[in-house]
Amino acid sequence: MPRETPMMQQYREIKEQYRDCLLFFRLGDFYEMFFDDALLASRLLEITLTSRDGGDDERVPMCGVPYHAAEDYLAKLVGHGLKVAICDQVEDPKEAKGLVRRAVVRVVTPGTVMESSALEENSNNYLAAVASDAYGYGLALADISTGEFGLTELRGTEAEDKLRDELHRLKPAELLFAPAGSEADLIQRMVGDTGIMLTPLGEGLPSPDEVRQLLQALYGESGINELGCEGMPLGLQAAAAIIAYLNQTQKTSLGHLQLVQPYLPDQYLQLDAATRRNLELTRSLRDGGRRGTLLSVLDRTCTAMGGRQIKSWIERPLVDPVTINRRLDRVEALVRSAARRTQLREVLDQVYDLERLVARVSYGTANARDLVGLKRSLSVLPRLASLLNEDPALASLGQGIDTGEGLCALLAAALVDDPPVSLGEGGIIRDGYSAQVDEYRRARREGRDWIAQLEQAERERTGIKSLKVGFNRVFGYYLEVTRANLSAVPADYQRKQTLANAERFITPELKEKEELILGAEDKLAALEYRLFCELRDRVAAESRTVQETARVIAEVDCLCSLAEVAVRHRYVRPVVDRSDAIEIAGGRHPVVEESIGAESFVANDTCLNRSDHRFLLLTGPNMAGKSTYMRQVALIVLLAQLGSFVPAKSARIGVVDRIFTRVGASDDLAGGQSTFMVEMTETANIIRNATSRSLLILDEVGRGTSTFDGLSIAWAVIEYIHTRPGLGCRTLFATHYHELTELEAVHPGIVNYSMAIREKGHDLIFLRRLERGGSDHSYGLQVARLAGLPGELLERAGEILATLESNEEVKKAQRQVAASSYRQRHRTQLSLFEAAPHPVLEELRGLKVMEMTPLQALNTLYQLQEKARKDE
Ligand code: ADP
Repeated sequence: MPRETPMMQQYREIKEQYRDCLLFFRLGDFYEMFFDDALLASRLLEITLTSRDGGDDERVPMCGVPYHAAEDYLAKLVGHGLKVAICDQVEDPKEAKGLVRRAVVRVVTPGTVMESSALEENSNNYLAAVASDAYGYGLALADISTGEFGLTELRGTEAEDKLRDELHRLKPAELLFAPAGSEADLIQRMVGDTGIMLTPLGEGLPSPDEVRQLLQALYGESGINELGCEGMPLGLQAAAAIIAYLNQTQKTSLGHLQLVQPYLPDQYLQLDAATRRNLELTRSLRDGGRRGTLLSVLDRTCTAMGGRQIKSWIERPLVDPVTINRRLDRVEALVRSAARRTQLREVLDQVYDLERLVARVSYGTANARDLVGLKRSLSVLPRLASLLNEDPALASLGQGIDTGEGLCALLAAALVDDPPVSLGEGGIIRDGYSAQVDEYRRARREGRDWIAQLEQAERERTGIKSLKVGFNRVFGYYLEVTRANLSAVPADYQRKQTLANAERFITPELKEKEELILGAEDKLAALEYRLFCELRDRVAAESRTVQETARVIAEVDCLCSLAEVAVRHRYVRPVVDRSDAIEIAGGRHPVVEESIGAESFVANDTCLNRSDHRFLLLTGPNMAGKSTYMRQVALIVLLAQLGSFVPAKSARIGVVDRIFTRVGASDDLAGGQSTFMVEMTETANIIRNATSRSLLILDEVGRGTSTFDGLSIAWAVIEYIHTRPGLGCRTLFATHYHELTELEAVHPGIVNYSMAIREKGHDLIFLRRLERGGSDHSYGLQVARLAGLPGELLERAGEILATLESNEEVKKAQRQVAASSYRQRHRTQLSLFEAAPHPVLEELRGLKVMEMTPLQALNTLYQLQEKARKDE
């Protein structure tokens, strides 16, 4: 056995307890990593790999980062999905006997990172946990960088789909789960390649007793009673798992974690992952970025808090018309008063990220600049509140703002305006705040003044004109005399250092003053640090109030942003109610309109309801504008339900409970599945989960397979959605199977529309205007010509098309499909609306088969068949 150095032994003991983490091991001014950690970190961080004596001549691989620059390196490693355990010296090396004690003070993981360089300003960074039982799931989420904490339960037959949707919506950085639980496989599959880091909880989820203890320790007995989560034991279990994990990894106060807020997904307009993606709400299909998304149009927020909030509003529109209209009232008030909007935004511009600031305060990582930022933000709150209070529609928001004047005054009195980043060197506390600080500063100033005039005095006393007073860290203050003048040095000078052409001296008096200055400086720095920590604790004690104010500020910021966008892009206030109508006059696509310019965009009307206009069948060639139109309708509904004005001349929106989209463009994201399979899976999901209040956007269903297969599936899907009890929901369906337009004649709720085009010779002109009636032509060849296929090829395609179109088989198949749909409809209607069963059935039921001879049976069967055929 090689003998290890004591330090390596200490390292190994600690590393043993944190095997799944990289260990940052503090040695002097560095965090060092050893062995495999060093190999990995040096590669990821691009830092030099060295080695160190591990004992018995063995060298161990090592690399390190300076501790004062650790944050950026930490952020990088966590960004790679790694966990980092930070091991510090936990006793003063001067007082240590032998090896200084070290311990892990915090574990940083993707879901628990607080370092600003690892966080996106406008996004939340969630840590999530899932609990499950036979009936469903509990899900909890915490963002420790802002203090947000929420939980929900997902139950019933759709629990799994809902959990998937929530995870895709919130995209937590890290998800805790019980690896031995029955649902572990499912969770792993669900997370798939979303980039969510899975953290298995080796010891499982907390038991009911532990759940209670954990919540009680964090919120106290009275706090637990305020939670209002009694009916959500699974959600609470997940929340408790988060608290336990934070206790283990953060090893510090979680005081800024807000009371956990219960919510139900049904309180919001539900959007599944595919729909979120297809509608490009916050991420573009092209590169996942912000450009070209609804968020990029709506986000004119001034603060980081507002930026996060508006994203969450877009991802979670509402369903209750009362709440929606309250939000719309507020937006309208801000639209009407340009002056108030501008003034509010000027104030908001001066507000810092209070949520993250307070979180840093609770963590004890906030510096003096953070507190000055807090003071500046607090100082504008009275103005913010009074601006809000002036308008009846906004006054309730104004009342939600705690202006924190006491705290603001305290911070203003205590802190200088522009303190240094570092907390160890003083310069933080304002003159006049502490008599003791002032006293030390006076002593230091006097000492310095004395020294400043010393140079002049000594020059006069000695007659050496070039005599200088200097300072360095090793010798402190000194008097410097050049070699040529050494003879004039008085007797009380004591030689301290000899340079090439000068000598340095001290005098007892100089040393005395030096002690006074340096002593004052040390004491001052220590005192200022202590006073600062006291201030920070004061702020921490008020963190809940500041957080609540921060929430109101975020809301005001979002409302102003919506109003600003409404004015800038000429949006109107929609009427939002519980009717089944979606009536839009002159609707526009908010994102396309912005990118191609409002004057080039052709506005279109929409009429949908759940009776005679429930299913709009949209035909027209590729490029005609079908997808744009359908998405525009979905986005206008979504905008209205999030409480925004909408791009239209007028709009009435009867709230929808879910929006589903099946749009071709997501094919490439499917990874591994064929286009057709993805299409069918998405369609199946829609049919399974849609209700009569949903809005469906289906683009080219059945496109991914052969013509007849595809046409048949599309046809049957339309009939099913239109006719099925419990469905019959408002649907937009685009297709270039123009054969489907025949359905309008058969089903009362289906209405044909097409995108107008004009033919000009071989060319097509897209008018982008919606017209009643189906198109009977798919214009594929013309579109191909537009795309630049060679003329010779197109001529040949024309010949083939002519042959195919004259083919009787195709026409026959169409007629048969239409006829069979008729029968299908009648059958459905019979079973639905008519109580009387078919006479053949009655007779069949009455037969006593066991008493018949085989010949009687055969005869009866023959007669029944005759009757049945007659009725056909
Ligand atoms: P389709 O789904 O019929 O193939 P798209 O909806 O993809 O057609 O539209 C094709 C192009 O037409 C888009 O790039 C868009 O910029 C433009 N476009 C669509 N609708 C309009 C409109 N109403 N006004 C102006 N341009 C439009």
